[in-house]
Amino acid sequence: MAYPLSATKLQTYRQCPQAYYFKHERRLTVPSAFGSPTFGKAIHRALAQIYQDWSYADPLPPLQWFADCWQQHISELKESQIHEGWQALETYYHQYVAPQPMLRKPVGIEGKIQASFQVSNIEFALSGRYDRLDWLDDGLELIDYKTSKTVKPPEAIDVQLGLYYLALEQTYHHALKRLSLLYLRSNQCISYEVTPDHLEQIKDLIGDLALKLRSDQDWHPQEGSQCDRCGYRQYCSAQTPNPEPLPQTAKPPQKVQLALPFL
Ligand code: SF4
Repeated sequence: MAYPLSATKLQTYRQCPQAYYFKHERRLTVPSAFGSPTFGKAIHRALAQIYQDWSYADPLPPLQWFADCWQQHISELKESQIHEGWQALETYYHQYVAPQPMLRKPVGIEGKIQASFQVSNIEFALSGRYDRLDWLDDGLELIDYKTSKTVKPPEAIDVQLGLYYLALEQTYHHALKRLSLLYLRSNQCISYEVTPDHLEQIKDLIGDLALKLRSDQDWHPQEGSQCDRCGYRQYCSAQTPNPEPLPQTAKPPQKVQLALPFL
């Protein structure tokens, strides 16, 4: 069976192999620190509908089209959230839609990314999701909508760039040129260009992970700023001189299944 992989998993692995081992190999759960995602979901769904249901026979939707779509996703929101969400969408409209001669139809909206590849005789199945995928003149652009109040570019963005490049090339046979993070609440867009270096980095990282999976050793702790919010500190030899043994609920260590080598 293929080993499931995602950008989030690889980011965890790069930050700290031991935290990855606890979370994904031994399946130790920690309570989530995140609050209700209702507001973010409503904006994501409204934007998906705006692009999905627009009749592209008409070049440019009016602002009323945005309002109509927003109205369909606000039933679970508070008044203040409805107001704030509409402000964000209205600003988005004036910044990114109204100045264009036409609304460009995306390649995909809220789509899945799936790909498979083999490294060191281990079959990896990559999966992920994107908010929007657009054509550029010379390749693809991934758009990720962000609804956080602060503009905080994600850590290890280069892992996402390399991994999505690999997956999208397999699915669409076109290169990913850019990943853009659109912060809707503050109306800021941060774009990252994909370079050959990102691809090399991701291949090295997956190769390294494959070696660990094969040998099941040296999932060493790697300390960093992430330790402050790590849920595995009590098991971590880098954080405490007497780490607790893993609980009985931890999944027993397992060897990965090797794929047949190519002849
Ligand atoms: S506390 Fe830090 S070093 Fe220890 S497992 Fe967590 S992230 Fe890794």
